[in-house]
Amino acid sequence: MSAFQPAIAIHGGAGNLARYAGTGRIEEAETFLSTLIDHLHAMLVKGASAVDAVTDAVVQLEDAGLFHAGKGSSPGSKGYVELDASIMEGRFGEAGAIAMVRNVKNPIQLARVIMDRTPLVMLAGPEAEELAAEHGLPLVGPDYFVPCTQVGAAISDEQDSRRGTVGAVARDARGTFAAATSTGGVLNKIAGRIGDAPIIGAGTFARNGVGAVSCTGVGEYFIRQAAAYQVIARMELLGESVGAAAGTVMQRINDDHGNGGIIALGPRGEVAMPFNTTGMYRAAIDAWGKRTVGVL
Ligand code: ASP
Repeated sequence: MSAFQPAIAIHGGAGNLARYAGTGRIEEAETFLSTLIDHLHAMLVKGASAVDAVTDAVVQLEDAGLFHAGKGSSPGSKGYVELDASIMEGRFGEAGAIAMVRNVKNPIQLARVIMDRTPLVMLAGPEAEELAAEHGLPLVGPDYFVPCTQVGAAISDEQDSRRGTVGAVARDARGTFAAATSTGGVLNKIAGRIGDAPIIGAGTFARNGVGAVSCTGVGEYFIRQAAAYQVIARMELLGESVGAAAGTVMQRINDDHGNGGIIALGPRGEVAMPFNTTGMYRAAIDAWGKRTVGVL
């Protein structure tokens, strides 16, 4: 019997997803998320670490081509994709992040290399790409990326096609928390623009004994609210439940006229997944085995 029951939550971005009702795209995403969440939970039950579970989750979400991250990323203002990602483990507060990489198939694996194999927390641009090559990570050319707005039913919707991210939060059987986030950012973003996804404390945070958080939405609002850390701090310092903490931060972003969503785990493996858009691709299994899969 494990000391802790595992818990896991994943997201594939928040947006005006109600536009996809009736196109088959919501069902396609739900089927994908449903299979993935069961696989990740089984990994954790078998003893996988939280950081391996969130890495695997994000790799699969990046490869799916259904979300604006990894394969599904959209090009920015200069016609090429720039990818951002970050990962954090809650035991010692170790973290890794990368920004503005163009040719790395799985940005989250490069963030993991930064965390595990270097003394750095964040590396950007060509030097980050060189590190990926040095560590033998798969590299891809521009043709690899198929913006997810082109996959399946073609729906042109400015709000929805502008952004997207994937992320995961987990607690393993040893009680360690981890969080990971990866994004192609926003469509037509100005080259060099960096959102919240690779910023520890904005898009991603994990702390043992407290919880783990991954955010999605218009990154500038999440950076200004220190959103991921604020959820953790509200639980740790104010004693708020994960639902209250994540809900308050989402409300503050809403009050600022920002939008998006948050997935978060609380200290006992409780799950909260608030969003203020018409949908967020999401799935979770909490510490009591309660399973949630949803889009709208
Ligand atoms: N947060 C991401 C960014 O601002 C985009 C998103 O999550 O939709 O780059």
